Amino acid sequence: MKAANLHLELPTLTPKAEALRQEVRAFIAEERSSGRLPPPRRIGLGFDKDMSRRIAQKGWIGLTWPKQYGGQERSALERYVLNEELLAAAVPVGAHWVADRQSGPVLLKFGTDAQRRFYLPRIAAGELTFSIGMSEPESGSDLASLKARADKVDGGWRLNGRKIWTTNAHHAQYIIVLARTSVAEGSRHEGLSQLIVDMTSPGISISPIVSMAHEHDFNEVLFEDVFVGDDALIGKEGNGWNQVSAELAFERSGPERWLSSFRLISELVDVLGPDVRPSSLEELGRLISHLLSLRQLSMSVASMLQQGKSPNMEASIVKDLGTKFEQEAVRVVRNIVSAEDLIANGRAERLRALLIHAQQYAPAFTIRGGTNEILRGIIARGIGLR
Ligand SMILES: Cc1cc2nc3c(=O)[nH]c(=O)nc-3n(C[C@H](O)[C@H](O)[C@H](O)COP(=O)(O)OP(=O)(O)OC[C@H]3O[C@@H](n4cnc5c(N)ncnc54)[C@H](O)[C@@H]3O)c2cc1C
Repeated sequence: MKAANLHLELPTLTPKAEALRQEVRAFIAEERSSGRLPPPRRIGLGFDKDMSRRIAQKGWIGLTWPKQYGGQERSALERYVLNEELLAAAVPVGAHWVADRQSGPVLLKFGTDAQRRFYLPRIAAGELTFSIGMSEPESGSDLASLKARADKVDGGWRLNGRKIWTTNAHHAQYIIVLARTSVAEGSRHEGLSQLIVDMTSPGISISPIVSMAHEHDFNEVLFEDVFVGDDALIGKEGNGWNQVSAELAFERSGPERWLSSFRLISELVDVLGPDVRPSSLEELGRLISHLLSLRQLSMSVASMLQQGKSPNMEASIVKDLGTKFEQEAVRVVRNIVSAEDLIANGRAERLRALLIHAQQYAPAFTIRGGTNEILRGIIARGIGLR
């Protein structure tokens, strides 16, 4: 086993990063006291366009991007601290999350200068919501088997296909679609390309998919002869698989992979009084110690991104461990709530709402962004077991 392939270093946070943490906390306190940020009753990323604009006004979207594209040229670890604070306080960041985390970085890494100039400042201003058009009804884990295709026509591409589970497609201005643009001669991974598509283009229809938690977050999106110009192609034609792999490293490593249930834990801590059973304290203590070690892992991936590395395997480890932790957190909180009889005695109305939502939502943790079985395959390959 090539364990030497695994590079995880423990970074330390700079005074600048800690100063940013205080700024973010002050912003959240102000939002709470003004009533613009009510305490959450659900877990996961809420969607609030106005909140995204206020976050943008602070310069906190595209924080690491070059100033010429609307960014602040701050470090990946500072971005890490920002997101950690926003997520721990359950600030609704869903309107800009995908654009900030992966669509913008993909354009920075592979896009043309014209694409960067057009999209990035508008993302940084909190104006644009992006969605991810990868999964299809018959292609999720085996993404390379996808059937969406874009055929070359005069001045652009004609796109046909069906994407599914597209989070926030009904709110988004743009979607980045992975489609086949040429027939692969060798590997199926060749001949795929990424296209940036305006959601108002003729030929697009969006149907809602309502989740088990009775929420409309994701959709099915149908593309019928949708024309996109040559300037919609991101990077090189046929290089989509490599680009998507880089994009998924951004998607898999962030603190959202282990902080979704944090609000549930902190609400429980707020509700628990001084007389807690030792068994409850022990379970809670174990949970918090796991949380702290995940935090170190996640920070070390942020530090690798800062150094310009592509930590695909390390990001997969964070997501695998982090999402299992999130599901475990729901189980532990439920046990403690029941052992301490918190709901029956009426002390915990908000905790109850959060717990109900978390139980309905938790199965998604280990599916979204690539299932844990698939991540373990990536980890096994990374350490030389496959
Ligand atoms: C909350 C949420 C949001 C999402 N948002 C988006 C989005 O915005 N855009 C987007 O494109 N997609 C999105 N997805 C889709 C997500 O990426 C897919 O659901 C995921 O990749 C799994 O694909 P699938 O659902 O087709 O399952 P399948 O691939 O059919 O897998 C079914 C089961 O088989 C297992 N399995 C499959 N292949 C293997 C294998 N080779 N070895 C071992 N086990 C295997 C899987 O682990 C899984 O348990 C979202 C999903 C969720 C839950």
